[in-house]
Amino acid sequence: MKEQINPFAIAQRQLDRAAETLGLDEATHELLRWPMREYAFMMPVRMDDGSTKVFRGYRVQYNTARGPAKGGLRWHPDETLDTVRALAAWMTWKTSVVDIPLGGGKGGIVCNPKELSEAEKERLARAYMRAIAGIVAVTKDVPAPDVYTTPQIMAWMMDEYETIVGHHHPGVITGKPVPLGGSLGRHDATARGGIYVTREAAKAFGIALEGGSMAIQGFGNAGQYAALLGAEILGLKLVAASDSKGGVYNPQGIDPSALIHFKKETGSVVGFPEADSLSNAELLELNVTVLFPSALENVITEDNAPRLRARMICELANGPTTPEADAILYEKGIVVLPDFLANAGGVTVSYFEQVQNTYNFYWEIRDVHARLNDKMCRAFHDVHAMAERHKVNLREAAYLVSVARVAEACKLRGWV
Ligand code: GLU
Repeated sequence: MKEQINPFAIAQRQLDRAAETLGLDEATHELLRWPMREYAFMMPVRMDDGSTKVFRGYRVQYNTARGPAKGGLRWHPDETLDTVRALAAWMTWKTSVVDIPLGGGKGGIVCNPKELSEAEKERLARAYMRAIAGIVAVTKDVPAPDVYTTPQIMAWMMDEYETIVGHHHPGVITGKPVPLGGSLGRHDATARGGIYVTREAAKAFGIALEGGSMAIQGFGNAGQYAALLGAEILGLKLVAASDSKGGVYNPQGIDPSALIHFKKETGSVVGFPEADSLSNAELLELNVTVLFPSALENVITEDNAPRLRARMICELANGPTTPEADAILYEKGIVVLPDFLANAGGVTVSYFEQVQNTYNFYWEIRDVHARLNDKMCRAFHDVHAMAERHKVNLREAAYLVSVARVAEACKLRGWV
């Protein structure tokens, strides 16, 4: 992979800058540049036709100074150890920026979930949990959903873990279905957190949202709820959305619920009636109030950044913008809400889920929303104040806030 778009090389470069501004000592800097622990393994899985296929799996525990590792599990054909490392680093900064007592980790399986039956997915999920059962627990490392993994997959993994350890232990994984100890409000938490941050940022930067427009690149879990909640909470009109097969555009507005229903029926937004088709690349360049990149990394690069026209970019995806593109967007005055702040709502409600599991006492939805709102507002204002103080963009400011907290925890433990 080209070094420039290798997500882990990017994550290290972003950290290096923050380390310099913060004046981190060499040992702390070196410790934070690398995962503390990483685990790679093979999983033989029986396919429906009787054959056996062997899958590659990873779990990276990046840093656990502030608490047990925490982070999702991605199923993707292009997964590599470096993508998982980068995502695990970003989880470390994410739990720190919202100030929850957790570290950062991430898991991945190299597979194409679109080619797997439900039964094959269940066997793969259980095989993965068997492989990592010794290194996860409420007190060690807690996986969760991410790209192409679902509450059902979390349920199978929890069941496998509880079968191995022989007792109930629902907090070993989050993003579970509600009847198995999942939290109310976890399903839309990533998007909702991003919408709250967008609302706060719009106030801080004097941007009018009501009656404005939004475009969504990536119409999966985060993207779909961003469309619904962007309309409901911020009064934004959805004008474009895309997925891996292509996109649709209608400047008059697209009904988010109708588009979600259409995607559920057909598997894609492509072909949605009453809208023109457009490519993912064209969508990113639309003149909208808020652009939500909600799919994968490296979609905004130095090649297309000069042409971007959104007023704000709320990064619901992890790593959608390269450092070169970041600098260009900052020059252009586009407000970028950086990934590990903008999409921290998911892990925040995962943390709430763990708290509820531990107490075995479950909250009302209004409590989840109010506490999420508090966490996201505080995180945004901490980052915004840091950006003003150091005259840097919000991503650099978010790094300064997060890295300083993790560094302090390492120091207090006597590690450095
Ligand atoms: N996969 C989500 C993320 O990237 C959620 C992680 C979690 O809930 O632990 O933030």
